[in-house]
Amino acid sequence: MLPGLLALNVALWGGVLLYALVVTPRRSKSWSPNARRANLAGIAAAALMAAAASALSYQHSQQVQVRQKAQEYYHAGIDNVQRGDLTAAAEDFEKARALQPGHPQASEQLQKIQQQKTADRREVRREATVDPNLPPPASVPAPATAGANAPAPTNAPAPEPVKGTPGEKAKPAPHKPSPFEIIHYALDVDLDPAAHTLDATATVRVRSRGERIPVLDFSLNKEFKPASADVDGARAAFSHKNDLFQVTPTRPLEKNREATVTVHYKRSGPDPIVEGGDLISTEGTYLRSEARWYPATGELDFRAPVSVHIRVPKGYTAVSVGALKGVEKDEKTVRYHWETPKFASMVSLAAAKYVSQSVKVPPPAGVTRPELKVTCYTFPEHRKRAPEFLKEAAAMVRFYEERYGAYPYEKLAVTEIPLFPGGYGTTSFVMLIDKSFEEARLDREFLSHEIAHQWWGNSVFPQGLGAAWLTEAFANYSAWMYSAARAGNPRVLTKRVQKATADYLRAAARKGDQPIAETDPYQPVGASTQIVYEKGAVVLHMLRHTVGDRAFAKTLRAFADDFRFGKATIPDFRRIAERESGHDLGWFFDQWLGRTGGMSLEYSFETLPDSPKQNKAVLRIKQTGAAPYRAKLSVVLDVENSIRKHEIELTQAEQEFTFFVRGKLTTVLIDPDNVYLMKPPRWVVPDPKPVTAGD
Ligand SMILES: [Zn+2]
Repeated sequence: MLPGLLALNVALWGGVLLYALVVTPRRSKSWSPNARRANLAGIAAAALMAAAASALSYQHSQQVQVRQKAQEYYHAGIDNVQRGDLTAAAEDFEKARALQPGHPQASEQLQKIQQQKTADRREVRREATVDPNLPPPASVPAPATAGANAPAPTNAPAPEPVKGTPGEKAKPAPHKPSPFEIIHYALDVDLDPAAHTLDATATVRVRSRGERIPVLDFSLNKEFKPASADVDGARAAFSHKNDLFQVTPTRPLEKNREATVTVHYKRSGPDPIVEGGDLISTEGTYLRSEARWYPATGELDFRAPVSVHIRVPKGYTAVSVGALKGVEKDEKTVRYHWETPKFASMVSLAAAKYVSQSVKVPPPAGVTRPELKVTCYTFPEHRKRAPEFLKEAAAMVRFYEERYGAYPYEKLAVTEIPLFPGGYGTTSFVMLIDKSFEEARLDREFLSHEIAHQWWGNSVFPQGLGAAWLTEAFANYSAWMYSAARAGNPRVLTKRVQKATADYLRAAARKGDQPIAETDPYQPVGASTQIVYEKGAVVLHMLRHTVGDRAFAKTLRAFADDFRFGKATIPDFRRIAERESGHDLGWFFDQWLGRTGGMSLEYSFETLPDSPKQNKAVLRIKQTGAAPYRAKLSVVLDVENSIRKHEIELTQAEQEFTFFVRGKLTTVLIDPDNVYLMKPPRWVVPDPKPVTAGD
């Protein structure tokens, strides 16, 4: 109880009693009847006030007890956080909030827990964000790698439904395409950020791929509940268990025939966080294709023109796929129409009370395309950061256009979103966490990674095992090339490669390794982020070294050109690399994508007399792994402070290289530019015992 209120209460009651029992009897004898009545009325009023103060005081004490209880729950929650029991902690914080609506610390803790849980689901991505030197992993758009184009699983694309398992959680069956394909997708969405709800109609044009289909299987997040389904205008039976949404038309879809499936569905509140970590809230809404917020076949399978209408309350802006075709306003709402006739590989949505700013991006020389605008949608408090992001994004687009051809979609939007632990590159726009706009320095690698996905992952649709390499490693290496070009310093790239090598080797040793070509975007294994993002990009760097800068650039350009809006696999990329370089590269792809780990060498050297004028320096290299790698390496020899670089070619498990020198060989540096994925140390100094590099 508040001491002030208690004191007032005591004073009032004391005053009433004093007056009624002590003052009145002494003085009232001489009063007129009216004065007596007035006196009685005064006492009654004072008693009433005192009673009210008592009631207030009682109510207040109750409130205080409730608050104390809320505080107890809050502290119990903190204890549970410290014990690592986030579920119990969340319950405690919820109770604290129930007792004291808006309990600020409990709300904050709940948000943190949700972030943690979201992040755990995308452990891969998160790991990358944990390293302060690494940009948050981009989430992966389509194939996954991870959910940063925020980064991946993270990136795992939506599991495809598996037939015949009603009621079971749909199991991923990523590499078997759905028996029907989606050939056009239209969504009409009513979004209520304050109520955390969504009411939508999906109109999906499908075509059977060659078999008769009695039941159409879609994936759809279980929180998004279908209310009706129609096939070609006729009511169809449906079921929705876990993430498997099955529509049974009155007649089966015959092979090679088309049909229009119309689904009306809703997502109710009150939780702003959608299962999987996406968000519908007044601070911001984002729904990535990975959230499976619309009925579709597996993400790797999605490739269709898309039209999206989104109705939001006045004051909000909604961003989705393709070009903005129209904005309709009424008194309370605004309806945005986004559309692309080109193939999109996913449908995502971002909405908030945005401030938008745009710049035009002139095409670089040799690139022809319609006018392109980059628009930055920030929260009002970050509007001042937009010009910087716009300038950098435009420079990135031009850099990539010079290398990979015209920007593939109608616009590029950079949208700010709350809560998400990274970034996400979806068809024609990227989403960046609000923190990105708070950091003093723009995270260039992060943004350029996400923008690179417009080519790698969004317009070139990766398929099959290892698909994530074609998106994440390509986006990563693109970002590294941009950083080096922007800095005007090739060492920036070399250092990044070196760091990626170290990160990958460390993570693989700790969490487990897997050949890149076997990585399953739906089922990340071990150190999958570092395998795909880091080693994957180093593999591209080694390919560049192997075929040369020119052939490498031609390969990337041809891959983008030949597969724009098409599906591509690792063997497709290999064929193009072989065509553009004129070399068989089967060995390269086998050793770098088909195996785990990297090179592991032991080496030693000695100087032997050869003639009176010169000596023979002998360098012995032993490859200690299961099978030797092929590699063209540089070695630097330090002969009594005279430095010379030589090229050697490794092909066998043990090799000896002889160099004629004047003086004594004192130090050898293997692969001085850190091109190859191998363990340090790479400096070797003479020693009676050979120095071991790698294991
Ligand atoms: Zn990415």
